Amino acid sequence: MKIYACTEGRSGQVDAVSLEMIAAARSLARDGDDVIAFFAGSAAADAAGKFGTADRLVAAIAPEADIVVAGTYARQLCDVIAAEGAGIVVVPYSANGLDVASSVAARLDWPLVSYVEKIARDGQSLSVVAQLYGGKVLADCSVPLPAVLMVNPGAFAEATATPLSPDRIDTIDIAELVAASRVRPISIDLPDFSDVDLKAAERIVCVGRGIGDEASIDLARDLAALLGAEIAGSRPVVDNGWLPKLRQVGKSGQKVKPKLYMALGVSGAPEHLEGMGQSDMIIAVNTDPKAPIFNVAHYGATCDLFELMSSLSERLQPSDT
Ligand SMILES: Cc1cc2nc3c(=O)[nH]c(=O)nc-3n(C[C@H](O)[C@H](O)[C@H](O)COP(=O)(O)OP(=O)(O)OC[C@H]3O[C@@H](n4cnc5c(N)ncnc54)[C@H](O)[C@@H]3O)c2cc1C
Repeated sequence: MKIYACTEGRSGQVDAVSLEMIAAARSLARDGDDVIAFFAGSAAADAAGKFGTADRLVAAIAPEADIVVAGTYARQLCDVIAAEGAGIVVVPYSANGLDVASSVAARLDWPLVSYVEKIARDGQSLSVVAQLYGGKVLADCSVPLPAVLMVNPGAFAEATATPLSPDRIDTIDIAELVAASRVRPISIDLPDFSDVDLKAAERIVCVGRGIGDEASIDLARDLAALLGAEIAGSRPVVDNGWLPKLRQVGKSGQKVKPKLYMALGVSGAPEHLEGMGQSDMIIAVNTDPKAPIFNVAHYGATCDLFELMSSLSERLQPSDT
């Protein structure tokens, strides 16, 4: 069986989520199956070294198109599947993936499961755990094959970025298909990561609404500095204008995977957990022992965050001697 992992990227770069999709596809493969990475964009040559543990790469290239819109991406992928056959298509839950997954499922008339957290192969069907209501409910379902799965970022660890030899890369020219598309990107508005790139941070101190007011964020900033960490916030903190949007962690913010994530006065709503649940070590500080953040925390303190910040900052002060 052929298992397609949809990948994304621009300017010859492949997004980290692509390697997660390859890992998801690989986890479903049995002896004799082929894991095929599908890429559509302007150039995949520079990125070919990053397609992880895929058996092959199918690169649909349009030299002028840094972004291939979802409709064109889905159409080309379906043409490849029509020619080669497939049993499973794995798509990332991303702005593009949302449209690609539904379009591929509709074109192929296959079932689609969205917001997938876990998958296991079960003979000719899949056992899938999928999020409902933004993660407030987890649904167990059995899905007959063939099927399309839209997988949440962070649900799978990234596959190792192993180079693919040229004989394992098939290139298709899709310049005409891109030119014929009725939807065309006009401009790309990218966030400026020169201030901070939380995705690359090894340590993060995240403040939630429990911090109380903007002035108190300075205390957390001081603690973060002592820990060599970046400061981040939950959505209410950012919506209040206390921290810039680039420092928001969660569903509508950054997806982070630091070695240390300290959550101060964060309740742990599903939309927040979606952005940080994969952190290596989570330390939660919250006055409410029933706060859901404790369900994912490795260490927790049920206490006032100001008391903890104060005594921790005191102990972390460099000594004068
Ligand atoms: C479509 C959508 C997208 C969203 N995207 C995001 C997102 O990207 N990121 C995000 O964070 N949220 C997001 N949300 C919002 C999310 O649902 C929650 O509302 C939000 O995460 C709550 O933030 P919080 O934990 O800081 O605040 P609260 O839920 O108000 O929690 C504050 C916590 O602080 C504790 N506390 C209060 N005082 C103290 C103290 N002195 N010491 C210790 N603890 C204290 C309280 O017990 C409480 O648990 C999104 C929601 C939707 C619908």
